[in-house]
Amino acid sequence: MHARGLHRCRIGNRVRGVAVGIARMAAANREGTALGVKSRPCSATTRPQTMTSLPPCPKCSSAYVYEDGASYVCPECGHEWPQVEAAEEAKVVKDAVGNVLQDGDTVTVIKDLKLKGSSLVVKVGTKVRNIRLVDGDHDIDCKVDGIGQMGLKSEFVKKA
Ligand SMILES: [Zn+2]
Repeated sequence: MHARGLHRCRIGNRVRGVAVGIARMAAANREGTALGVKSRPCSATTRPQTMTSLPPCPKCSSAYVYEDGASYVCPECGHEWPQVEAAEEAKVVKDAVGNVLQDGDTVTVIKDLKLKGSSLVVKVGTKVRNIRLVDGDHDIDCKVDGIGQMGLKSEFVKKA
């Protein structure tokens, strides 16, 4: 029965496709929840709410690409690449050498930073744990040992 073997193979493919589909749905749900919490007006041109599908894999053209953090991942060939286009929607904060920073990261200060309105200085090499990315000029919110809560510029830190 050659036909049976062929049949089984097809089912295998379908099951795989469904699993990936579920993963993509989960990703979409996450996104939806995050947007809901922020409750931004839909009219904003700065955040187009397009429901576009994910791009195909640039290596193998697979359509089962899913999002993983700031990257796209292809389950077919394992290729990973940054979400360049998404960078305009969700702001990507990078450190001094171009590493993408995320909430909870640990960074190291790469130069002495004087604190405005005080004599305090955050010394070069200071390790800052559990950063939080925020909008604004100082795009990192964090707590520095011995100083307290403060804002840092991502261009003056390096991912540890
Ligand atoms: Zn691929």
